[in-house]
Amino acid sequence: MKLSTIRSTLAQLGTQPTRSLGQNFLHDQNIAEWMVAQLDIQPGETWVELGPGLGALTEYAVRRSPKGILIEKDGRLADFLRERYPHLEIIHGDAAEYDVRQLFARGPVKVFGNLPYYVSSQIMFQFTAEPSPVCALSFTLQKELAERLSAEPRTKAYGALTLLVGRRWRVKYLRTLPPTVFTPEPKVDSAVVMLTPRERGELPECDGGRFTTMVKQGFSQRRKQLRKMLAPYELDWPAVCAALKVEQTVRAEELSLAQWIELTNIAATHGGTPHLTEPSEATAQDIHGEIFDVVDENDAVRHQASRHDVHLNNWRHRAVHIFVFDEHGQLFLQKRSKWKDKHPQMWDSSAAGHVNAGHDYEETARREIEEELGVSAELAPIGALPATAKTGWEFVRIYRASHDGPFTLNPSEIESGAFFALDQIQRWVSTRPQDFAPGFLECWKTFRALE
Ligand code: SAM
Repeated sequence: MKLSTIRSTLAQLGTQPTRSLGQNFLHDQNIAEWMVAQLDIQPGETWVELGPGLGALTEYAVRRSPKGILIEKDGRLADFLRERYPHLEIIHGDAAEYDVRQLFARGPVKVFGNLPYYVSSQIMFQFTAEPSPVCALSFTLQKELAERLSAEPRTKAYGALTLLVGRRWRVKYLRTLPPTVFTPEPKVDSAVVMLTPRERGELPECDGGRFTTMVKQGFSQRRKQLRKMLAPYELDWPAVCAALKVEQTVRAEELSLAQWIELTNIAATHGGTPHLTEPSEATAQDIHGEIFDVVDENDAVRHQASRHDVHLNNWRHRAVHIFVFDEHGQLFLQKRSKWKDKHPQMWDSSAAGHVNAGHDYEETARREIEEELGVSAELAPIGALPATAKTGWEFVRIYRASHDGPFTLNPSEIESGAFFALDQIQRWVSTRPQDFAPGFLECWKTFRALE
């Protein structure tokens, strides 16, 4: 948007840039076009722009795909954009409080914005928090924040922010922007960064909650040695340092991201809740060695067979699904890990699993919730499904439980998870059934019918 257009539009609206809303409007059209091009938005793809202002970036994004959502906090600008782009979805609201979970129903979305600097980190955390429906983000940030996001170990900019965002997102510092490309000119330089999700397997898995706590603790006094900062964990420090191949005097800023993940996994083992980074050989053997009861069309046990043979022959067998609700009536969904032999990386019930030979449905449900979510809770039966091709020839019993978390997700089973409002799930199921494991879809239908 040209400088003269920005000025005349603001005059028409009878308004001036509001400093408290971080309003610095981009007037360099080449940069605006370049920035939107970085995301490579395809026709029909959904994109979300945060803090669109007068639409400097919007005009290039609509040329690529008409499926845009704009979130603008200034009501006058939101009204202006509504008139200018009647076919776009325009939300007058705070991007830092936007419920990102509703975007799952839109498929992987691309997000961008010249962010207002007073609230950029909050907005960034909101859109990068796990689990995220976002497949790429491009943001203009204060240069100093962009440097912290993309910093290397042993530098001043490297810190908790670098690691907390970097564990899940690859951050690329694209270019620096001088104050002169904005009106009014901000006091500092800006920079454009691009964030894309890390490939699964690019780094070892670890418990995200524990990683966050340890990193924050380690960097809370960055000049102190980690040995002192992590004393509450009661680690065998010489052994930890030997495993990480670092000096015992190491400080938080000297450990790479991979070393922080390894440290988290060592602490998890030490704390008695070891998590596998990938299925060990023993686990893989256990899977193949699992024995199920094979049942007839009336769910009566006929004989036993290995998991492999049961699935190969489509023999009827038994499974449980557990729906865990929080105090607001939201349902916890899990995203299956990429290590799962069936339906990897699809969304599923809070916990689910096969009934092993000689076991019953309810004790299996109790075991699954403990093994997968790390908690125990009262269970109540809410439904049952007959064994058909749709359930993968499983007789399924569905249970409900109440728990607000937090859960300790086993990363070899579950990639991530979150509570969702029931209407968010319903919308998501109807627009993108391909995101869900078929067994969950059947349980969901039964649950909705019973509600
Ligand atoms: N995208 C426009 C451009 O490049 O010219 C405007 C960028 S300006 C730096 C930031 C924009 O974010 C302003 O339009 C401001 O009103 C808006 N804004 C400020 N706080 C916001 C918030 N919490 N949520 C959404 N928008 C916000």
